[in-house]
Amino acid sequence: MDGNPDELLQRYLAERGLKSTRQRSLIVNTFLGASGHLDVDELLRRVRESDPRVSAATVYRTMKLLADCGLAHAQRFGDGHTRYESALNRDHHDHLICTSCGAIVEFENDRIEALQDAVARRHGFKVTRHKLELYGLCRGCQAGKGRAHA
Ligand SMILES: [Zn+2]
Ligand SMILES: [Zn+2]
Ligand SMILES: [Zn+2]
Repeated sequence: MDGNPDELLQRYLAERGLKSTRQRSLIVNTFLGASGHLDVDELLRRVRESDPRVSAATVYRTMKLLADCGLAHAQRFGDGHTRYESALNRDHHDHLICTSCGAIVEFENDRIEALQDAVARRHGFKVTRHKLELYGLCRGCQAGKGRAHA
């Protein structure tokens, strides 16, 4: 993603007649400063460390905006829970998801990427995006230890 995220978001909001509010900025900065895959509850918890008055609805709406303007990717990993991850300064990657403790591991494999392209070409497809999610048990859960060792 190119460009300053603030500018990008300001432009996006302006085009839609929406105002940038202090709460919105706080949510955006908290999100962009975090790493990994956050759900709204987790983001709300972190935002409230700075401003306890922020509501879950505001976080929901703001994350929807961020996803719409391409600054965040919304991901739904099997459990029906939407998690967001920053689209800034991130290379493409895919995910391994533990169905027991929810641990998410990121990976990137050139051969898998190339194979996917080859499959698509064979079917006359031009791929514009993809996501690959592998579900199972993480090392810790296989050892019966759950998240503490994930
Ligand atoms: Zn991939
Ligand atoms: Zn696990
Ligand atoms: Zn990821």
